[in-house]
Amino acid sequence: MRPESIDFNNPERSTIPTRRSRTRQTQQAITYGKRKTTRGTTHLVSQQRKKSMKATQAPQTNQVEMIRDLAVGTSHQCDGQHDGRIFIKTNLRFDVDALFELLFSPAGSTFLRKFHAGRSSTDLCFGKWNCNVAGQQERQVSMIVALQANVGPKSARIVERQTIRQCSAKGEIYSIDVESLNQGIPYADVFTILMHYCLKRSPGNTTDILVVGDINFVKSTWAIVKTFILKHSLEGMAEYFYSLHQQLLKEAETMNRR
Ligand SMILES: [Zn+2]
Repeated sequence: MRPESIDFNNPERSTIPTRRSRTRQTQQAITYGKRKTTRGTTHLVSQQRKKSMKATQAPQTNQVEMIRDLAVGTSHQCDGQHDGRIFIKTNLRFDVDALFELLFSPAGSTFLRKFHAGRSSTDLCFGKWNCNVAGQQERQVSMIVALQANVGPKSARIVERQTIRQCSAKGEIYSIDVESLNQGIPYADVFTILMHYCLKRSPGNTTDILVVGDINFVKSTWAIVKTFILKHSLEGMAEYFYSLHQQLLKEAETMNRR
């Protein structure tokens, strides 16, 4: 099923039925910032958040071994690029459509709005999905994020262009590319952040989620600037997706108790 046959702005009106029954399944472990290449990713991280992340982050030893191969529940294959650093690779107790709704619904889900509010982000704007010239569903999301660095700007505007790849199929797989631009910070025009989300139906009415990210330098700059951007963007990404994963686990717990 091609994305153009799916109403991403109103999935309930799409024709493919979704399975609603839920069974409990042990949550799989997660790796944050497991590097596949020497390149990396976005969002500047605050020192305060880094400390809290280090304090609460589960030990990574043996976690990789606990992660089973993804995509055992659907025969649909993703044709997206999986290069870059792995930020989330785990199994969540949502069905695949429900997880898509949480992360990519047209008006921004209550979950996602609360998540961003908890990070002091403001001016959230979630665009509707529309067909682009390539025949893919595309939309823009923007927000102002708080920066807590001791020096420099205290906030930055982030603009994301989100694209649903044509291998996506309701009830089976969602393959989404995200390009993120920062505005209002030094050297913002030098790089963009490329992220890729894979949501795949998994047994037990759960979903395997993979998120990878990478820095895309669009202008040449000094090596020391590149190093600075890579370091702080990667740290920011790791913290962001760690927080997102923790909140998704809590949301899954709440939904499965109902
Ligand atoms: Zn993928």
